[in-house]
Amino acid sequence: MSLSVLVIGSGLSAVGAIKALRARGIRPTVIDRGEKLDSDRSDWVSAMAKKTPDQWDAAERYKLSSNPTVTDSSAIPKKMLFGSDFFYGKSTHDAPVHCEGNFPPFSYALGGLSAGWGAAVLPPQACDVADWPVSHDVLNEYCAKVLEELPYSARDDGLSLDFPILSHRLNALNPSQSDLSLLDALKKSVAIKKGQLVFGQARLLVASEDDEHSCKYCGQCMSGCVYGSIYKAGNDIIKMSERGEIDYVSGHIVERIAEKNGQVKVTSRDHSGSVHHQKFDRVFIASGAANSARIVLRSLDLYQRKVQMLSRGGFVIPMLSFKRLPSNWPNCNTQPGLFLEFRGKWLKHWVHVQISPQNELLLQKFSVKETDNQFIAKLKRALVARTVLLLVNYHSDHSGSYELWLASPEKNNDATSLHSIHKQSLPQWRIWFSSWFKLFSIFRRVGCIPLFPFAKLNSGAYHVGGTLPMKEQPKGNLETDTLGRVAAWKRVHVVDTATFPSLPGTTIGLLTMANAYRIVDQINWNLTSEND
Ligand SMILES: Cc1cc2nc3c(=O)[nH]c(=O)nc-3n(C[C@H](O)[C@H](O)[C@H](O)COP(=O)(O)OP(=O)(O)OC[C@H]3O[C@@H](n4cnc5c(N)ncnc54)[C@H](O)[C@@H]3O)c2cc1C
Ligand code: SF4
Repeated sequence: MSLSVLVIGSGLSAVGAIKALRARGIRPTVIDRGEKLDSDRSDWVSAMAKKTPDQWDAAERYKLSSNPTVTDSSAIPKKMLFGSDFFYGKSTHDAPVHCEGNFPPFSYALGGLSAGWGAAVLPPQACDVADWPVSHDVLNEYCAKVLEELPYSARDDGLSLDFPILSHRLNALNPSQSDLSLLDALKKSVAIKKGQLVFGQARLLVASEDDEHSCKYCGQCMSGCVYGSIYKAGNDIIKMSERGEIDYVSGHIVERIAEKNGQVKVTSRDHSGSVHHQKFDRVFIASGAANSARIVLRSLDLYQRKVQMLSRGGFVIPMLSFKRLPSNWPNCNTQPGLFLEFRGKWLKHWVHVQISPQNELLLQKFSVKETDNQFIAKLKRALVARTVLLLVNYHSDHSGSYELWLASPEKNNDATSLHSIHKQSLPQWRIWFSSWFKLFSIFRRVGCIPLFPFAKLNSGAYHVGGTLPMKEQPKGNLETDTLGRVAAWKRVHVVDTATFPSLPGTTIGLLTMANAYRIVDQINWNLTSEND
């Protein structure tokens, strides 16, 4: 098909859309800001990747996981990539942001936020997407489709009772000793109940097969994977570009889009400030929930119009195990090893808990060095060996939100500021009380006590969406149809989490790729008239 098609962005949603375009024989152009890890860091990361983990010395390992936010006791450590936070978007001269409260999560990186994400995935459950105009079965069908081409570590265990595995390629990572010990204890003492409580090995987009990128069990997952085992959209973009399947153009920020006479005109600005205009037959906006809304608001001159950006989040709760958990760190994978999903009284949506025993950030938090043999260090190590982190995530109905709007262009300058107010809110007390009570009653049976007084609220930090929600009958230009289109446009489709009517607590990355794939797949490509 000789259509000229543009995808804006290179994150998970962009890759979902591109794969569906490729399946139709379309070779899209991909425009992206495309920021990368600085060259100094990428050089030493490449050098480390040439060695096996046992060849790394303690200083190299320490450098890899260096993260200044870990020692701040007032906040949850920020996830970094090899000590850099480059993949979190910042306010820039050409795209200024003013905010109250937390900075809204968005990215200008090659691969977007997936450059530093956790790669935890679960398909959505029907009760969590009941307000979507697309059925849960269709969403799962597309989750299965995108999983076909992704590295996927999953085991057919208790989780599958409610969360189908959706793949015949079951290549699970070896759980760490502490994960195994906790999982065994849960299996012995806690009954799995379909629709109420399920748990099992974490499902992760990580290569576990025997290929060049398969996990080397180096114990550094929370700091970045030098071996490229954790899936990142950016690596897929590079591969597709090298194979000539896409035309990848980085260094551009798309500012405006206009649709006229069956063509879409796209205005972007490059690093030097030069403005570019290009025309396409169809455009897919995959710039992340905040930036996709920004492009739509600016293109349609919707200044001062407020949009709500939903978030999914919850608490990070440390938990103490009465028993010392066995550890094979650093020779293990340190991503959250277990998932526990539950519903119950007052909890109509699934609560998603990622369980993470010992990892390198925890060791760093307690300033425990691998080589240190002093008494205090041993004591700290003993404490770390009894500490487990629970990442508790609620559906967006129970998490905070952001209010976003675009200021009018400044005089003599076309730059417009994005304004954001973070409305961080505790979940309703019933949700909070009910989920904490449930966690307490589950974990006390395995000899663990969640330390609720040390819980930290973690809403809106990473998972956002819903700025241009899909509706069965969308109204105006701030809602989209099931193909991600606002009323003003026929050939421009928003394909990222901006279109999510709500965000399941049970991860959104896989759903993001699946929904983008679905939008492209369900377009009637044979129709070219204005009314398609
Ligand atoms: C630390 C962290 C951990 C996470 N862990 C998980 C997890 O375990 N599981 C999970 O499901 N989700 C997780 N997430 C969330 C997940 O990463 C995001 O929901 C997902 O990556 C969003 O993908 P996206 O394609 O919608 O947008 P983004 O990743 O934000 O990508 C946007 C892309 O658009 C480009 N762009 C933006 N604006 C413009 C513009 N104006 N012009 C041109 N290009 C533009 C950017 O360069 C970027 O490539 C995590 C996020 C973070 C930050
Ligand atoms: S343990 Fe983690 S960081 Fe190390 S190779 Fe495996 S996925 Fe990568």
